[in-house]
Amino acid sequence: MMDDASRLWTRRRMLEATGGLLTASAWMPPVLAAAPQVKLPDTFAKTERERPGPPNPQPESERVGWAVVGLGHLSLEEILPAFGQMKRGRLVALVSGDRAKAQAIAKQYGVPDKGLYDYKSFDQLKDNPEVQAVYIVLPNSMHAEFTVRAAQAGKHVFCEKPMANTSAECQQMIDACKKADRKLGIAYRLQYEPHHRAVIQMARNKELGTLKLFTANNGQNQGEPNQWRHKKALAGGGALPDVGIYCLSAARYFSGEEPTEVQGFSQSTPNDPRFKEVEESFAFHLRFPSGFQAHCTSHYGAHETKDLRLMGTDGWASMDPGFAYSGLRLRVGMKSKTFPKADDTVERSFSQPSQFAREMGHFSRCVQENTVPHTPGEEGLADVRIIEALYRSAQEGKVVKLEAAKKLDAFRGPPPKEEG
Ligand code: NAD
Repeated sequence: MMDDASRLWTRRRMLEATGGLLTASAWMPPVLAAAPQVKLPDTFAKTERERPGPPNPQPESERVGWAVVGLGHLSLEEILPAFGQMKRGRLVALVSGDRAKAQAIAKQYGVPDKGLYDYKSFDQLKDNPEVQAVYIVLPNSMHAEFTVRAAQAGKHVFCEKPMANTSAECQQMIDACKKADRKLGIAYRLQYEPHHRAVIQMARNKELGTLKLFTANNGQNQGEPNQWRHKKALAGGGALPDVGIYCLSAARYFSGEEPTEVQGFSQSTPNDPRFKEVEESFAFHLRFPSGFQAHCTSHYGAHETKDLRLMGTDGWASMDPGFAYSGLRLRVGMKSKTFPKADDTVERSFSQPSQFAREMGHFSRCVQENTVPHTPGEEGLADVRIIEALYRSAQEGKVVKLEAAKKLDAFRGPPPKEEG
């Protein structure tokens, strides 16, 4: 099934592409009437870094229309500003429980009054053909409900991490999107980020040799005890599902493997009002079928730390910060090819466009070209299953075994094309 906007859009493209020969009822993936790509003559020598070229954005009328659900820190500070860098997506609706805040934000971003919804009127999105994709940026316990409702309203869904609080909820989300024939993507921003993509490429090309070990730390010192992140019913857990998930996910996408044995250790300072319901820190170890191992910590009570290091037989790649929204620094170390008695340590720096523009750009392309998202619901479910196993391990004080995956990158869609 297609929503009205997709159908109209597809029909327009189909008729343009075929000179009106096809009937509009026949379904086919949208054929983009791509504007000609503008290329400028080179001005630098081949010794210089290649220019990225002009962004070649789509006109507003052809872009995927997005609704953003939940107007908290992430939406206001990262996601909405990222629309300014988008080439294929545009902001057309906002969903919030606070009308005055929604109106103020709508004014800033030029969202019309008819694009404003609250959590009750959310289902009326089905009557808004401008909206094709819905981005769920709510507390974790609300992801499943709003994903299912968005799919039932005929919208494609992009959902923040962690996908949900339980693997059963993740499965409901996947099933609901499948039933409604809508796409489901999980917002793993770093799987679209240039430095992380470079490390994935180095790992797959064996530039670091055989991968042996991964270490990572992610966390910050939390404030206000009564915020939703400290309530188990809303957050699902503490440091592990909120920030530890980045370390877990990176171990999986750098290696391409899935862990078969996991062990976790949970710790909270007694009588700290922030950690009555959720853990303060969670350290964990993952063993993968090839012999690759990952050791990670996540925390809510120590000063901000966001580093990672991937070690192979022939070299290492390290990032500090490695999990931030910007300012990532990637260093690579290996034996020098010029001076055999020396090690080379090089810094590889890529441009750092908004990670949110890149992930939404990718998902917009998936909607337009009818392709599978690189981080679909199955990828989010894989992390939540491992998180459940890690909590079981910490509770029972033992290693928990998991099923082996049948192939590398078992739950990921095709790699993203570069997007801004
Ligand atoms: P936040 O607390 O700043 O915002 C949450 C929003 O949800 C607020 O506008 C709040 O009013 C609304 N809300 C609706 N019902 C609520 C309820 N019952 N209790 C509390 N708030 C309610 O949180 P955030 O930091 O924006 O996080 C939102 C989601 O985004 C979470 O799932 C989080 O894990 C994820 N997140 C992802 C990243 C990332 O880098 N990808 C970063 C931060 C947060």
